[in-house]
Amino acid sequence: MKYSLVDIVRSQVEKASGYLKVPAHVLKILKCPMRTLKVTFPVELDNKVVECFHGYRCQYNNALGPTKGGVRYHPEVNEEEVVGLAALMTWKCALLDLPYGGAKGGVICDPTKLSEKELEKMTRRYTAEIMPVLGPQKDIPAPDVFTTSKTMAWMMDTYSIFIGHAEPAIVTGKPEVLGGSKGRKAATGKGVAICTRELYSKLGKSLKGATVAVQGFGNVGSHAALFLQEMGAKIIAISDSTCGFIDEKGLPIIDIMNTCNENNKYLIEYKKLKACDKNDILSHEVDILIPAALENQIRADNVNEVKAKIISEGANGPTTPEADGVLEKNRVDVIPDILANAGGVVVSHLEWVQALSGLYWEAEEVNTHMERSMVRAFNKVWEKSREVSVSLRTAAYIVAIERIAEVYKYRGLFP
Ligand code: GLU
Repeated sequence: MKYSLVDIVRSQVEKASGYLKVPAHVLKILKCPMRTLKVTFPVELDNKVVECFHGYRCQYNNALGPTKGGVRYHPEVNEEEVVGLAALMTWKCALLDLPYGGAKGGVICDPTKLSEKELEKMTRRYTAEIMPVLGPQKDIPAPDVFTTSKTMAWMMDTYSIFIGHAEPAIVTGKPEVLGGSKGRKAATGKGVAICTRELYSKLGKSLKGATVAVQGFGNVGSHAALFLQEMGAKIIAISDSTCGFIDEKGLPIIDIMNTCNENNKYLIEYKKLKACDKNDILSHEVDILIPAALENQIRADNVNEVKAKIISEGANGPTTPEADGVLEKNRVDVIPDILANAGGVVVSHLEWVQALSGLYWEAEEVNTHMERSMVRAFNKVWEKSREVSVSLRTAAYIVAIERIAEVYKYRGLFP
């Protein structure tokens, strides 16, 4: 069964609610998004035809601070997905002790079929349409699926033109020359690798020689593969939406990244290896599986084919609730999305702080801070899961939601 992302997230909250020590009204508030803006806007394409695009920006909850979250360009973007992703951002920011609530945006489009000029026009008009709810102290977008530092530069420029001065704190994930943080691009994948390493160490095992499969070879999947390889693991299977590659001796990750990721190309365009079916990756015999593509990938119908004993969720919402139950029964340790892929928003926070202060940091400072935050959050989740005897996912939800409830205790309700 295919779940909407908001269903997946609600059922995860439901599961954690039995262990939560929070007032009932907080759970009631957290069940629904605070605000979802839906926009429709015209863009003249290169062939002079005017196309209408539909987009969203959902701000799920802002109890902890301005809302934060990426913008996704994809043909399957829809309101329920954006709301689910914004809820995940809310838990993620709370779990990582960031001073942010959660948001997400998206435009329904196929960015692979749009020219650079069309993408720029669409981005600028989308930014103008959601402008009333944006602001460095209100809501701060970032990259997500099929959006990049270039997209963020267009968003920043558009916002800055409207308000009459350059405002680098309005988005994160910008190019470095515009005030983007060092280390931001690699941060999400690096965080996935750090969490996997921490879990291995808790289990008393070494990553040396551990075999890894990565589903999705965009920014997150490729960097997770790269850092796990640096930590001694062997990446033997990868895939994207076009095909997969398997090599038991280990794949040439850097060469594939140089050919594909640096040039916005799909894996099918890497000609040095024989391609296989992309669907072979999830079921391949490996120690660690990194789903780093889209939601709804590990489901009731394929979960029993998964051989890995550790899953580290680079993507948001890759596992359905039914599949989650089966994985728990099969004693598979799942590092949940809101922990595993939080490295990106942790460095986004550092980028926002740098933009607000005008003081820029070296890569080493950024990376040390990010690693410390990830390890601290991992330990909190691990300890909670042992204390309450629940999965890492349920433990992560308990820690995150209890923090938001604590804030409501002091802020109270208006009026
Ligand atoms: N889109 C990323 C995520 O899902 C990053 C969000 C951000 O940095 O604000 O975590």
